[in-house]
Amino acid sequence: MRLAAASATDQGRVRSNNEDAFLIDDQRALFAVADGMGGHRGGEVASHTAIEALRAAMANGTPLHDAITRANTAVLTRAAGDDELTGMGTTMTAVVAVGGRQLLIGHVGDSRAYLLHDGTLRRATDDHSLVEELVREGRLTPEQAEAHPQRAIVTRALGVDSEVEVDLYTLDVETGDRVVLCSDGLTTMVRERDIERLARAEQDPQRLAEALVGAANEAGGEDNITVIVIDVLEADPVVAHDPTALVAEQTVPVSRSAVVAPPDPPEPRVPRAKGSRGRTVRSAILVVLPLLLIVGAATAALGWYARSSYFVGASGSEVVIYKGVPGGVLGWNPTVDRRTGLVVASLPALDRDRVTTNGARGSLATAVAYVGRLRAAADAVASTTTTTRPKRTTTTTRPRRTTTTTRPRVTVTTKVGP
Ligand code: MG
Repeated sequence: MRLAAASATDQGRVRSNNEDAFLIDDQRALFAVADGMGGHRGGEVASHTAIEALRAAMANGTPLHDAITRANTAVLTRAAGDDELTGMGTTMTAVVAVGGRQLLIGHVGDSRAYLLHDGTLRRATDDHSLVEELVREGRLTPEQAEAHPQRAIVTRALGVDSEVEVDLYTLDVETGDRVVLCSDGLTTMVRERDIERLARAEQDPQRLAEALVGAANEAGGEDNITVIVIDVLEADPVVAHDPTALVAEQTVPVSRSAVVAPPDPPEPRVPRAKGSRGRTVRSAILVVLPLLLIVGAATAALGWYARSSYFVGASGSEVVIYKGVPGGVLGWNPTVDRRTGLVVASLPALDRDRVTTNGARGSLATAVAYVGRLRAAADAVASTTTTTRPKRTTTTTRPRRTTTTTRPRVTVTTKVGP
């Protein structure tokens, strides 16, 4: 996959410093936006600490999910024992290319990732914010949420607790697609349809990043604004039922090492005595046996991989959890593991899309949690279409702690990345 990325950041028209930080690591195809919060210098220390920890962890080969939990630990550690930094936190939305046509997104907080595909912009991440949870529960309309005074309250952030739940999304991309990462300084000021219009019209990623920041400033620039634009210049074409491609994209180390096994060291040359048939057979075994072992291990790993992952998809009109891999791998076809009773048509368009394209993959727990979110989303749709809203009993996770963004007046602006 070949990508081109550009960025722009600005403190906006109201804040006196920029607590956003970002990362563009072209070599690792790693991109991230972090929006810091906290008193005194806290916000900017938090966002920069998290970005640096993410970069260092990924450079050591740490998978994205763990790299983000390390960033969480780094922010907590940095804050410990420094009164000025107590209570600081940061959002994190990070993207890394995996394989030839997939991006992996790790996400905590209310920064966002969008995908522009065929001229249509869709949001790829769910906000961990109070207002968005109220929207998901059907207690606020999206329009009410846009103007809500508490829209800056996030329900999940790095640096708040020793454990943090990281949302992971995989995004299938094609040549010509465009990904926009941004802090909420963009999305609280500029409507999605205007972001879409600009992203469609401006071909140059750098000019687009600057245009989006400019639009947020024109609308008031009430918060720091950071935008990264990633253009997919070249992605591998979709190859149906190609198990090698499927596995190579996975971050599961077992499958990966099984298929992308390093070549065996060359066999020592066995001097062959003329007419010595025994030697020839032995040297053939020396060559063939390791090959058989590799093929065996790869097959076992593929089988393990094919049967140990789950995804949420549709079976007829119903949302179900499948065990296996979409499309199957070498004869291991996915099977319905459990039915949910949830009707695909009752979901919001975005979720419907994700379900029908088998977008949510991972462990059984991930799949079950995702179905929980789908159920809440379906309820929200149902409740907004009825005139009398029923009293809701909801199982949506309550925020354990909320971090408010209080912005002090400090005049330091730092940037991470080029
Ligand atoms: Mg912000």
